[in-house]
Order: sequence, then structure tokens, then C-alpha cells
Amino acid sequence: MFKVRYSYLPQQFADPEPIFQELRRLVPTGDFTLGKPVAEFERRFADMIGVKHAIGVGSGTDALKLPLRALGIGHGDEVITAANTFIATVGAIAETGATPVLVDCDPDTFCMDVSKVEAAITPRTKAIMPVQITGEVVEMPALMAIAEKHGLPVVEDSCQGIFSECDGKRSGTWGAAGGFSLHPLKNLNVWGDAGVIVTNDDEMDRKLRLLRNHGMRNRDEIEILGHNSRLDSVQAVVGNWLIGQTHDITEKRIATGAYYDAGLCDIDGIRVPNRPANHKRVFHLYMVFAEDRDALYQYCLDQGVEAKVHYPIPLYQQDGLKHLGYAPGTFPVTDRHAADVISFPVDQHVEKWQLDYVIDTVRGFYAKR
Ligand SMILES: *Cc1c(COP(=O)(O)O)cnc(C)c1O
Repeated sequence: MFKVRYSYLPQQFADPEPIFQELRRLVPTGDFTLGKPVAEFERRFADMIGVKHAIGVGSGTDALKLPLRALGIGHGDEVITAANTFIATVGAIAETGATPVLVDCDPDTFCMDVSKVEAAITPRTKAIMPVQITGEVVEMPALMAIAEKHGLPVVEDSCQGIFSECDGKRSGTWGAAGGFSLHPLKNLNVWGDAGVIVTNDDEMDRKLRLLRNHGMRNRDEIEILGHNSRLDSVQAVVGNWLIGQTHDITEKRIATGAYYDAGLCDIDGIRVPNRPANHKRVFHLYMVFAEDRDALYQYCLDQGVEAKVHYPIPLYQQDGLKHLGYAPGTFPVTDRHAADVISFPVDQHVEKWQLDYVIDTVRGFYAKR
């Protein structure tokens, strides 16, 4: 039995009755696709992030794919993104028909190393997709300057980064659009797959609303070839019930991250990443660098700490992405991270005694070496 579990969903939804009551109110309305709960959630999400438009879609992956499609990106085009990301980023790019072009990550933030972006730009490059991985942020002003210089639109993968900021500006609001995931294990979550796109651009908003609903201008007219990727009304009900907690959840995660940093930073064998002062990170994941990582990981599991590794095999070395043609060693920082990083539970339900237990366990491991 784990003393410190990774998944907090049983605690978060220990009392589902209030949500069931909301769902009971939904059923008699028959408002199951793009009705009132979806419109309400979109308005609240846009207000919360501080953008003009929020468009609810079927998944975080679609929240990345549809903006690329709205920008006209497809076969023969290239989209630059981070080597160190979750497969969904690369998958979303590939689903448009475009080729994902990877850039290595920063040694501390885990995010795209902006100084390596320009070398990846070719005449076929049509967009840049920075990833706010772990809830850290890309150095966005520098990235935006490169994007503007080359006339490239930016679509942010903010799926792990809700409420994160760079220079006081929120993730998702920098470029043409930003995509968020409401997957059960994201900081703002629902009871299945869902995603949200934010944009300040009226035309982008219009295209995204067409693209998520079969390209239908109205019941009878199809303006463009689209997709079926609507935010489910049932999930919008869950989202409306939870969205008001986003601020508190974020603050709790940030406080927990700071507590881990303070407890782990003096352990010989652990390196806490430098945390740039102009970034507000929201700790979707809490990750540090560990010597002898695999042994520490196993020791943690044995001691009842459900640690994780995000991610043990870099994407470019995965069988499913061999066709991208990257040779082993192309992304040395990403490779090093795959060997060094370890993640500890950082959710809003983890308690202080559990954080102390994790810290003591890690300390105990290195004391024994
Ligand atoms: C979760 C996530 C996504 C989207 O995944 P879905 O499962 O489709 O919601 C995209 N990018 C990153 C970095 C993610 O963590």
C-alpha cells in the first residue's frame, strides 16, 4: 500500500453528490451538445484566463490540432515544438498532416530551449508550438521575438500550464491561440476527455467554432471540412462545478512545490532545478534531478511513495516516431533528463506529513549509499 499516492481522484471526488445533482438538472433539458453548460463554461474560462474567447473541444490534443488547422497548416508544412513533451503535442501536429520538428530543452525549466529555435526554422516552417511542460514556462518574450522576426504564428501547448505566467503574462495568451487540457489528471479537470482553446482573435474564434462542429455554419450549410470535437455538455457541467477552485488548486500546488524545494535542495544526490524569477510555474508536475535515479525510484516505490518518471524514453527515440528520422543523441539535454528526472505527488490533496515522508525517504536513500 502506498503512503503517498500519485492519483488524488478518489479524494477529489469523494463526494460526487453535488455534481450528480447538476447532472440531474441537465438531463431533462436534453441540452447534450453545445448547449447552455458549454456556453457558460466557455465564458467563465475566458474570463478566468483573461482572454476574449474560449472554445470548448473534445480533448487537449484537439485544442492543439484545431488552431493549427485554423491557420491552414497541413501536409508539407513543418511545426516546431519541444523534444521534451508528452506525445499529444507531436500527435496533434502529425494529425494535421504537418511534420513535427523538435528542439531540445532547457537544462532547468524542462521547456523548449529558445536559443535553439532559429536553427530549426526552414522555408517549410509554418508555426511554433511551445509547451508549458510540468507547469513551467518557456521564455516567451524571446520566443515571440523570433516568431515575429520570421512571421510565424505561435500556438501554445498550455495543457500542463493553466495559470502559469512568464513576465506576468498568462500562458495561452501569447500567440494566435493556446490549448488547454481538462483530462482527469490535469490541474483543472473533468470526468473524461475535454479541452479548451483560448484566443483574442475574432476570426480565429469563428474558425475554431466551425472546425469543432463539422465545419457547419448552421444546421444546413457546411462552410469548411471540420471535425467532431465538441466539449461534451456533461463534462461542461463538471467543469462548471470545478472551475471556481482553479485559483486555490494552483496556489496549493505552488506552496507544495516550494515546500519540496526547501526540503530537497540540500540533499547530496538531488538537484532542484533553478527557478527563473520571471516565471510563475504551477507545478502540474513536481520534478527534480536525481543521481542513481532508477534505484531511487525503486526505493521510493518500496517505501510507499508512488513516484513517477516523466518521461523515461524521449519521444524521438520511440518506435512510433522513428519515421521523423532523428539519430540517437540528437537531443542531449532531453536524453539526460530522461535518465535523471523523478516526479513526486504535488496535487492539492497531498498532506504535509506526506511531503515530509517523501523528503525523508529521499534523504534516507542517499544517506545509505
Ligand atoms: C495532457 C497533455 C496534452 C493533451 O492531452 P489530452 O489527453 O488530449 O487532453 C497535450 N500536451 C501536453 C504536454 C499534455 O500534458
